[in-house]
Formats: sequence, C-alpha cells, structure tokens
Amino acid sequence: MSDPDSIKTSPKNVARSDHKVSRKDISPEALKVLYHLKDSGYLGYLAGGGVRDLLLGRKPKDFDVVTDANPNRVRRIFRNCRLIGRRFRLAHVFFGEKIIEVATFRANSTPDPKPNAEDQAEGPSVAQVQPNENRHGSLLKTEDGVILRDNVFGTPEEDAIRRDFTINALFYNIDGFGIIDYVDGLKDLDAGIIRSIGDPRVRYQEDPVRMIRAIRFAAMLGFHIETNAYQAISEFREVLTKTSSARLYEEVLKLFMCGNSRKALDYLFDTGVLGVLFPKWNAWLAEDPDGRIGEARRACLQIDSWRQAGRPPTPGLLFSVLWGPFLESIADRRRDLRCGEAITLTIMQYLYELGERVQVPKRAGYHMAHIFSSRHRFSRTNGKQPARFAERLFFHDAFDYFKFSVAESAKESELVEWWNAYIAEHKIRRPESTSAQSNDPSPRSRRRRSRRPRRRPRGHHQSPKQT
Ligand code: ATP
Ligand code: MG
Repeated sequence: MSDPDSIKTSPKNVARSDHKVSRKDISPEALKVLYHLKDSGYLGYLAGGGVRDLLLGRKPKDFDVVTDANPNRVRRIFRNCRLIGRRFRLAHVFFGEKIIEVATFRANSTPDPKPNAEDQAEGPSVAQVQPNENRHGSLLKTEDGVILRDNVFGTPEEDAIRRDFTINALFYNIDGFGIIDYVDGLKDLDAGIIRSIGDPRVRYQEDPVRMIRAIRFAAMLGFHIETNAYQAISEFREVLTKTSSARLYEEVLKLFMCGNSRKALDYLFDTGVLGVLFPKWNAWLAEDPDGRIGEARRACLQIDSWRQAGRPPTPGLLFSVLWGPFLESIADRRRDLRCGEAITLTIMQYLYELGERVQVPKRAGYHMAHIFSSRHRFSRTNGKQPARFAERLFFHDAFDYFKFSVAESAKESELVEWWNAYIAEHKIRRPESTSAQSNDPSPRSRRRRSRRPRRRPRGHHQSPKQT
C-alpha cells in the first residue's frame, strides 16, 4: 500500500445485509451516543477495535465512536461529557461507571504553524511546520518524525488512513448500519493479515508503539504480520527507545495480557524487540535458549490460562511469573544478604534500571517483593501463622506464584494441597483491590479524579502543611 497521505479512494460500503455486525452486540451506551450524534445532525461511526472484533465475532473490549462534530460541539451535545487529553483531544461521555470515548475525525498530515511552549519543552527538537488555515487543531512531529501531538481534524477518509493497521480502520455507520472500508481492511480481516496503513517504516517512526501493537494483534487474533510490516519491526525496533517509558509499560502490559502472550513472546524474541525492551532479561534468556525460553513460555501459558479463566493476573503477579527464575538467579548471588532482602533489593534495582526503557510502577515492584519474599511462609502451617498470612492483601498472588513455581516438585505439592484445603475450609476470598481490573492501565479504567479542588467546610482553614 502507498503512503497514507497519497491515498484517495472511494470507500467500500458494505450494506447491513452483507455483514454480520448486529446492534444487539453493541453496548446500549455506545448506541445511545451514536443515535444522539445522528439525531443532532452529525456523523456517528463506531471505529477501531470494536468494529474489528464485532466482524470477527469476538466480544469487543470497548466501543469507540468517531464523529464530524468537533470536541466542543460534542461537549454541548452531551450533558454527561468531559473533554480530556492534550495529545488527542477526546470527549468522554459518562453513563455511570461506563465511558464512551468520542473522537472527532482526525488527519495525520497537517503540521502546526505555532507549536506551543509546552510541546517544545517536551525535549526533542520540533520540525519546521507549515501553516494550513483550513484546519483546526494541530500536528506536531519531532525531526525524527515522532508524533507529539496530532489534533488535526479531518475527513472520515483521513481518519481511516491515519490509523495503524487496515483491520483497525473500519467504520460502522449508525445511519444505515453499513460498514465503511477505505483501506481494504475487510479483505485483510478475512485473510488474517496485520497490514500497516502506508509504509510501515514511516508509520513505526511516527509512533514506535505500533510495532508492539502489530505483535499484540497478531498474537491475540492468530493473524500474520504482513511481510513488509514484519521486516520493518526488526529494522526499526531501536526506535522504541524514543517512546516514553510509561507508555511502553502500558503497551507491554497489554501485550502480555492479550490472551496469547505465549505467541507474543515468540514474536518479541524473533523480531529482537525483547532485547530493546528488556535488554538484561533478553541476554539472560539467550544464554540458554532451550531451557530458559522454555521456562518463559511456560510462564506465558500460565498467564494466558489465568486470563482465559476470567482471572487476569495483577501486574505484580504477571512480572513475578515472567521474571521469577531470572530475578532469583541474580538474588542468589547476593550471599551477603538474607534471602528476603536479597530478592527485594534485586527487584528494586532491576526495576530502577529498567525504568529508563519500561517504567514498571513502584506499586507493582512492592507487590513482586511481597510475592517472592513470602514463599517460605507456605511451609509454616502451624498455629496462627497460616491465618496471619492468609489475611495479607498479597496472599492470593503469593499463593498463585508459589503454585506456579513448585509445579514440578512432589514435596511442595503436598503444601499446595494443604493450602488449598485451608483456603476452602476458611472461605478465604481474593480481595477486590488485587483483582486485575484495578491494575488495568488503560485510561478508561483509571479512577476518575475531579479537577476541582474539594470543597472544605466553611471556617476550615488549611494549615500550610496540608498544601
Ligand atoms: P483493543 O481491543 O486492545 O482495545 P484497539 O484496536 O481497539 O484494540 P485501542 O488502543 O483501543 O486499540 O485503539 C483504538 C483504535 O485507535 C485502534 O483500533 C486504531 O484504529 C487506533 N489507534 C490506536 N493506537 C494507534 C496508534 N498508535 N497509531 C494509529 N492508530 C492507533
Ligand atoms: Mg479498543
């Protein structure tokens, strides 16, 4: 496929009778938003992964709406709405706890004549930019082509071609219930192909995270990455180091939570992306490819089976399982420290070093430290010790890790049975706060915080310490 900027096609329109997306599979909230946009005189399309998943007969994770109404207009149309984001200006429409994201059609091309001071302060130098008076909003790229901000509103076609892969660029139109396809995404969906829209080398440079997304979709859907897009990952993987470490963490977490992390690991290894994201872990795996990679694959299968059982692991548990043997091999060398201290220090040092590339939150690090350093407590089955241990917040994750790490040991399997019986007898439940949903990094699942300061009762003066 040619450069997205040069694509000018009329879309393929697939009528309702010729596709299987039914309104009963779309969330009532998303439908309300779509109908309300249409009734207000605007276009209302379902876009992105929701359409892809509906067409594949999968249950979508979320439903994203796009429209030709600009964000301020969207805010006026919906009372229950808030605008968010600087890089992408989006509207969030609230239905109780549920949020429907409404974006205005965007283009990928028009640079900003006046990059603002905040953007320039982000670090990389900003490319020369050209004014375009027909557009609202702005696009800002570094000299390397990395997109910093892209609020250029555009046409539906431009919105389709600025997306990452053809299968993610399909629209479901509430007006007539047809599918609109500007990029031959339906063909790729049928053939099981992850194909970049435009030159993958340009698209990966614009946003390196697309390389990890390609791997995620291929693993998750059992698709092939188109040859050119696949080769470009190996060529451009180092560009990933230009992405913020916080964003890389979010993408890595989604990747290992995709349901087929076993396949994702193979892609990461084969493309060399694993070495860019996790240089030390990768080097350690490569020292003994058969044994250690086999062990890492077993960890991924465990993660996938937790996900399939509807119990996705917390980040702390996920990284404990993945990195367990690696971190323990480092901790074993710390003979100067007690076992628990050695592993805690190893985890903290490793996460600190890794933070330049992939920023695993401290909270997950502490969780890992608890999981590792409490292993010995499973052999204490006398007196009040089990009760004290079982009431700890991290107990269930520690037990899951223990079960995983002793899977092949007959001696320890007796302990596992003992604890299983203990948990059943005492009806010990996994606390809500360690459920995986609470660790989902996606912005939509983050707790909402009011921007307004909390009101204080009259006459209550804030002491300087509280500020
Ligand atoms: P998931 O099922 O995991 O949510 P998704 O495809 O919906 O997958 P999102 O991250 O929710 O992924 O993004 C929604 C849509 O926005 C994508 O389908 C794609 O069209 C577009 N998109 C997301 N990230 C990018 C990106 N980095 N570059 C270009 N388009 C993107
Ligand atoms: Mg999505």
